[in-house]
Amino acid sequence: MASAYHDLTLAQARELLDQGEVTSRELTQAMLERIEAVDGQVRAYLTVTPELALDMAEAADELLAQGQGGPLTGIPGGIKDVLCTQGVTTTCGSKILENFVPPYDAFLVKQLKEAGMVLLGKHNMDEFAMGSSTENSGFFTTRNPWDLDAIPGGSSGGSAASVAAGTCYFAVGTDTGGSIRQPASHCGVVGFKPTYGRVSRFGLVAFASSLDQAGPFTRTVADAAAVLQVIAGHDPSDSTSAPRKVPDYTAALNQGVQGLKLGVPQEFFATGIEPEVEAAVNKAIAELATQGAEIIEISLPHTEYALPVYYIIAPAEASSNLARYDGVKYGLSLRAENADLMDMYLTTRSQGFGDEVIRRIMLGTYALSAGYYEAYYGKAGQVRTLIKQDFLDAFNQVDAIVGPVAPTPAFDIGQRVDDPLQMYMSDICTLSTNLAGLPGMSLPCGFSGGRPVGLQIIAPHFAEETMLAIGHAYQQATDFHWQRPEI
Ligand code: GLN
Repeated sequence: MASAYHDLTLAQARELLDQGEVTSRELTQAMLERIEAVDGQVRAYLTVTPELALDMAEAADELLAQGQGGPLTGIPGGIKDVLCTQGVTTTCGSKILENFVPPYDAFLVKQLKEAGMVLLGKHNMDEFAMGSSTENSGFFTTRNPWDLDAIPGGSSGGSAASVAAGTCYFAVGTDTGGSIRQPASHCGVVGFKPTYGRVSRFGLVAFASSLDQAGPFTRTVADAAAVLQVIAGHDPSDSTSAPRKVPDYTAALNQGVQGLKLGVPQEFFATGIEPEVEAAVNKAIAELATQGAEIIEISLPHTEYALPVYYIIAPAEASSNLARYDGVKYGLSLRAENADLMDMYLTTRSQGFGDEVIRRIMLGTYALSAGYYEAYYGKAGQVRTLIKQDFLDAFNQVDAIVGPVAPTPAFDIGQRVDDPLQMYMSDICTLSTNLAGLPGMSLPCGFSGGRPVGLQIIAPHFAEETMLAIGHAYQQATDFHWQRPEI
């Protein structure tokens, strides 16, 4: 095979391992060398774990030699630093957690390890997953492998950039308002946000608990199905985890789109969408029509309220979730010494949190305060129900929704840092999905000014199979997922 190991998809790497053409140790070594070669420029990793990875690879090779192992046995992957990894530093992109080494694995990390993954390290992210560019990381900014002057998207920018740069075969990130789909779109990879409750949140450092959901980043839709198969499922330690059977996601891939009704929400195209983005998305929709899908224009009339509703609910939940970082728990590096208790809290928090996190805590605390609660949080909850109802009405008519992921391709590093509202607009087409608890996916469908563009597919609750079938059908007929950045 001509292509280098780092150009392969997960399925191709699986095949080489299964045929004994490569060992997991060799594959892992090759990935560590790739990290060494390009991550100085991309900066997708906050922590690389070479010794651990090589140990895991050797254990995987032993299993494979005995003809045993799971779907991910010996496959090197990376995890967003928002997910707890036993014995491996988990910072959530924040200085306040700089020295936090979790004593346990997140449930989904345990599932991945049981399936045999090799952990290469932890991916960079916006602090506490608040952001759309990875520029809010407390440590450094990740760059887009397609254009090092561009942001990779966020908050899971490290995960998306790593898959695009070939420094892992898959990654797992989280999506509270778009943080899997938007960076996937900007980096030209597949990003899959499952239905709320499909994947356990146990061990996921909470940002906004009613919105957070973890899911895979891969190069192909088929690879996303393989990773989803491992991380989906009921977890009794997460009270919002759905006690539902996990279907065979890989079997769903070949269902095709013949006879499917696909809704195109006009509101997603009224968001200041760039012409080249619009053209790429329309071309992708036309391809699905060629394959036999029926395209229907639909309306999601409350879309314009998704952004204001999200920026009440997410900060409100965050202000409560982040109260636990008090300088006493989770590592002591930033604890202010020689102060009285209140002083210690205040100094620790003002030094440990970045500007965006402090902004959100203030917004959320205000929205929840006595006298304002009903006017803000209460009202936002009511409008959230209307947004969800829009989707339920649409799904009476169509099997899935297709449209853009973001109105523009990746913007330049620094371009939106001083303008929070402009930054918030990045997620205008993704936020409503989280508010409604629905699954959504991004897959590469073109370029704008040399930077990747993604197609978004949204399905009814727990209809991940429909999204996978549509995405896979599209990738069978196109080659955007085979293109690699020159890095
Ligand atoms: N960009 C959005 C925010 O800043 C969404 C982030 C996310 O999905 N984690 O809140």
